[in-house]
Amino acid sequence: VIQIDGLHKAYGALEVLKGVSLSAPRGHVISLIGSSGSGKSTLLRCCNLLEDSQQGDILFKGEPLTWKGTGHDRRPSDAEQVLRIRTNLSMVFQQFNLWAHMTILQNVMEAPLTVLRRDRAEVEKAARGYLDKVGIGDKCDVYPAQLSGGQQQRAAIARALCMEPEALLFDEPTSALDPELEQEVVKVIKDLATEGRTMIIVTHDMKLAADVSDQVIFLHQGLIEEQGSPDVLFGAPKSERLRGFLSATL
Ligand code: ATP
Ligand code: MG
Repeated sequence: VIQIDGLHKAYGALEVLKGVSLSAPRGHVISLIGSSGSGKSTLLRCCNLLEDSQQGDILFKGEPLTWKGTGHDRRPSDAEQVLRIRTNLSMVFQQFNLWAHMTILQNVMEAPLTVLRRDRAEVEKAARGYLDKVGIGDKCDVYPAQLSGGQQQRAAIARALCMEPEALLFDEPTSALDPELEQEVVKVIKDLATEGRTMIIVTHDMKLAADVSDQVIFLHQGLIEEQGSPDVLFGAPKSERLRGFLSATL
């Protein structure tokens, strides 16, 4: 679904991604792990074009993104292509980012209505279905502040699903939650993996990464230091840095 080839990204003089490649085929779950500042969020945000990048290719369903300009002046050249990528790669953030002045149902319905211009009755039906699926079907008419963190995050996942995206991108979806609420969200993510959803998950939760991933990527200072199946990566890490990282986190 999404493929990145040799991506370089700098904030001014600070090089954050130094030639990173990854491929998320349909139905695969990829986890990105690594120390704080290694570039995980930046890589995820480059995937759905929330960040620009200076070099390297981004392909969506095999179609390369077209650019104009080079280096720091490089921008996507095809607005329709950008919209297609954005709407098909739905992001779930650490801090949920629900709209506080909208009910949960309105939050889930908003983007399909305004961005995709879908039929209201159909969107409402789908939205209620996704809220049921994540276990908060009874919370349609309340506001985000009335929900626990775990419920808010599940609402954010329902909102992402309601776009009917090709893939879901998660940036530390459980990091803001207390351990017992974290498990509610982990369960939803595991169910999505079992369903065969394509997902890229940035996480500090090594157990989640081990349980759901087809592939785990360990980033270190803007480069992929090691990647592989969770069995190999966690069971027999080759890189000294990865071994150090794992012993510090487990
Ligand atoms: P964490 O685990 O703490 O979330 P991360 O691996 O997600 O870390 P990034 O957020 O991708 O790391 O940041 C990578 C580097 O880019 C860091 O050095 C960070 O300070 C820098 N950075 C991130 N966002 C910006 C920005 N908007 N402007 C300037 N520098 C930034
Ligand atoms: Mg981050």
